[in-house]
Amino acid sequence: MAYEVIARKWRPQQFDDVVGQEHVTRTLKNAIEAERVAHAYLFVGPRGIGKTTTARILAKALNCVKGPTPTPCDACDACREIMSGKSLDVIEMDAASNTGVDYIRELRENAMYAPARGPFKVYIIDEVHMLSAGAFNALLKTLEEPPPHVKFIFATTEPQKIPATILSRVQRFDLRPIAAARIVGRLAEIARAEGIDIDEDALLAVARGAEGGMRDAQSAMDQLIAFQGKTIREQDVMSVFGLVARRTLEELVSAILAGDVPQALTTVSSLVDTGKDLPRLNVELIESFRNIMILIYTKGNPSSLDVTANQVEVLKKQAESTEAERVLRIIEILTDADSRMRYALSQRTLLEVAVIKAARAATVASVEQIIGQIATLKKAFEDGQAPEDSASVKKKHP
Ligand SMILES: [Zn+2]
Repeated sequence: MAYEVIARKWRPQQFDDVVGQEHVTRTLKNAIEAERVAHAYLFVGPRGIGKTTTARILAKALNCVKGPTPTPCDACDACREIMSGKSLDVIEMDAASNTGVDYIRELRENAMYAPARGPFKVYIIDEVHMLSAGAFNALLKTLEEPPPHVKFIFATTEPQKIPATILSRVQRFDLRPIAAARIVGRLAEIARAEGIDIDEDALLAVARGAEGGMRDAQSAMDQLIAFQGKTIREQDVMSVFGLVARRTLEELVSAILAGDVPQALTTVSSLVDTGKDLPRLNVELIESFRNIMILIYTKGNPSSLDVTANQVEVLKKQAESTEAERVLRIIEILTDADSRMRYALSQRTLLEVAVIKAARAATVASVEQIIGQIATLKKAFEDGQAPEDSASVKKKHP
């Protein structure tokens, strides 16, 4: 049997299978159940997070013989045609390659005719922001008075390029980048079913590399399977993405927190030598310290963190070893470096300086500490029991 790429084979077929977009799928399911489906939707969000997939499921939900239903049957002819992209009633187009007004005029004429199998004709227009001004005008006329059997689903990565007249006539949903932990969960499920031996750190590396995109994560898995076969380790993934291993990143964070500048610089140096992506490393450092900060403020509650169980253990220890004010200062230093990284002549120097400053901020006495010490001293004077090391001061105030 021919190898079928993971993204296609594991494409979600039901609203409940779409990972990380529950705020969208729940609303759509409710709208279908209440028979209040809008005539035009706009799905907004970065690439590869489920916009087209959700659009196809919605098309199926509308046209399934049991539909409109929030749970299309996946067995009837309408469902099967839509799944295989052969439905005459679900027309998918990419606005990036059909930007012109003629194309939209043709669409308008075509939309007048009743659906082949019915009950709806669904137009899915990807990258809709690419349409020309003339094309948007032509589209607007249809959106103002859509034939009752027509539904539009637009998808875009750049909603700010869509005219306000169009935006005011669609129901907009913003899809979110998917949390790394959710991607790890889904990939683990796929790996189990495909008989692929991949550990959690490797899965996490894939998810980190994909930056919230399920499709990118799945393509990376395909690539890894092609290179490595069915046994995949974290190291294999690192080389594909230019990422830093989780443990190395954690060690660097610990070195900074301990104020161990030599150790931190040695780590940075070895990462530079192996050609790691330095701006990316800096961003991951910021995320790590952000996680530590949240753990400090929530007193160790990891529920709002996008991390795996292994990571939580290390983060908790790191959080216990420091205090909030220091972490805030470190985040400021790294964020400042991040904003300058892109234009830096030497990213390496910028990162090294940031790491040194961060390590110093981690150990230099904080204002809170100094105030605390003053308060202790003051109390000791008042009680007439100054600590020994301030005995010389005491003598002046008998
Ligand atoms: Zn069906």
